[in-house]
Amino acid sequence: MSERFDFIVIGGGSGGIACARRAAQYGAKVLIIESGPLGGTCVNVGCVPKKVMWTTSQINETLDLAKDYGFRIERLGFDWPTIKQSRDAYVSRLNGIYGRNLDDSGVALVRGKAKFSTSHSIAVNGDEFHAHHILIATGGAPSVPNMPGAELGITSDGFFKLAHQPKKILVIGAGYIATELAGLMHGLGSEVSMLLRKDKLLRTFDRDVHEMVMAQMRQSGIEIMTKVTLQSLVKGNNTLGYRDHEGNGKDGFDCIIWAIGRHTNIANLNLEVAGVEVDARGNIQTDEFQNSSANGIYAVGDVTHRAQLTPVAIAAGRKLANRLFDNQTDARLDYENIPTVIFSHPPIGSVGLSEADARAKYGDDQIKIYKHFFIDMHYAVTEHKPRTLVKLIVHGADQRVVGCHVVGRGADEMIQGFAIAVKMGATKQDFDNTVAIHPTAAEELVTLR
Ligand SMILES: Cc1cc2nc3c(=O)[nH]c(=O)nc-3n(C[C@H](O)[C@H](O)[C@H](O)COP(=O)(O)OP(=O)(O)OC[C@H]3O[C@@H](n4cnc5c(N)ncnc54)[C@H](O)[C@@H]3O)c2cc1C
Repeated sequence: MSERFDFIVIGGGSGGIACARRAAQYGAKVLIIESGPLGGTCVNVGCVPKKVMWTTSQINETLDLAKDYGFRIERLGFDWPTIKQSRDAYVSRLNGIYGRNLDDSGVALVRGKAKFSTSHSIAVNGDEFHAHHILIATGGAPSVPNMPGAELGITSDGFFKLAHQPKKILVIGAGYIATELAGLMHGLGSEVSMLLRKDKLLRTFDRDVHEMVMAQMRQSGIEIMTKVTLQSLVKGNNTLGYRDHEGNGKDGFDCIIWAIGRHTNIANLNLEVAGVEVDARGNIQTDEFQNSSANGIYAVGDVTHRAQLTPVAIAAGRKLANRLFDNQTDARLDYENIPTVIFSHPPIGSVGLSEADARAKYGDDQIKIYKHFFIDMHYAVTEHKPRTLVKLIVHGADQRVVGCHVVGRGADEMIQGFAIAVKMGATKQDFDNTVAIHPTAAEELVTLR
């Protein structure tokens, strides 16, 4: 079979689906090709199941505090298979919704692995499809290093398949996925160790932020081993372990999770045929309009390695469709001031520059820092009293807010609104002129002295 479309999208994840539907809305004849379940990483093995597990863990922590609030609760334990079943059912429902949305938008769907046969033709399952415009939105996958015993570990994809709760887990990695999985599993009662090649978690975040998260994770009982040069994973009597370069290590884990980063899904796409350039790490090179190096071929989302977040892939995809099929010639995503939340324990909400980046960009004398550590009133009557941090980084004489960071309970829901203010160029004075909402943790951001 051979068929011509206006637009072919490879990858039915966050970016691909958003772009395909928007293009179809403008009347384009669109084909989307997906080799796995619809919704991609976010829906199936990313944000969605992760957030369900984070919430599960938060509920356990709330139950821990209940006695301090006067509740007498008999704790009979936690049943992992129950939440796994509900979570899987929720994900399946979303897969169905995504399929129906494509149908409703008039986007054709072909299931299978796509590859370029020419710069404007795609082969899948022996069929050929042609289009003037082609989008690569194939996302990424978790990386596993090449070392002895590596296959003994699972990745975040494998984590979501676990039928039973591991009791003693080793998480290898220092990024947000490692931090989130370690935190939520500890919150659910597993014994958790983390193994870092360097000395810090989340090192690209503001220093106060990553230091506070690392300290609180350690205080909560998570073991964080730093500067370990990992050589191998090993299997003993029904348990797993690791060895470093000197042959030292630990055993006794029943689950080891690789969370050392992700690579792009470009293998077998035949990009050479299409003339699409990738960098040394396999990231598709795009300009500010998501154009690849090949005429008529575009890329959005994780495959470009730019701000690897679902809303970024969606927004870049929609802007691209606006440009290609609605004549909005200047439409492009502005990658500045993208807010982000890490669902760690405690959670982080962050928008704009870290203190170090702001100082490097504007110079020390142009930057002023406002920060406050405090105990959220949620913990006023509880024995456990974790600290919350709010921090503003302001620039210049008008004190424009160029960084806004929160660590602590509620940070995840707090930062979206503040991100609007930062994106609009709000100053410290604007923050101060906003009447506080009392008693909340968020009010601390408009009362900083
Ligand atoms: C554990 C985890 C937690 C995360 N949590 C968050 C979060 O809380 N918030 C957030 O914003 N982001 C989160 N992310 C990141 C987010 O999931 C990604 O940024 C987002 O899914 C990227 O969308 P995408 O469209 O670029 O790629 P994807 O969603 O990965 O979609 C790519 C699709 O392309 C398909 N594909 C690949 N190759 C081919 C081919 N040759 N032919 C056909 N189809 C192909 C794949 O099967 C996949 O469905 C998380 C990721 C992980 C792994």
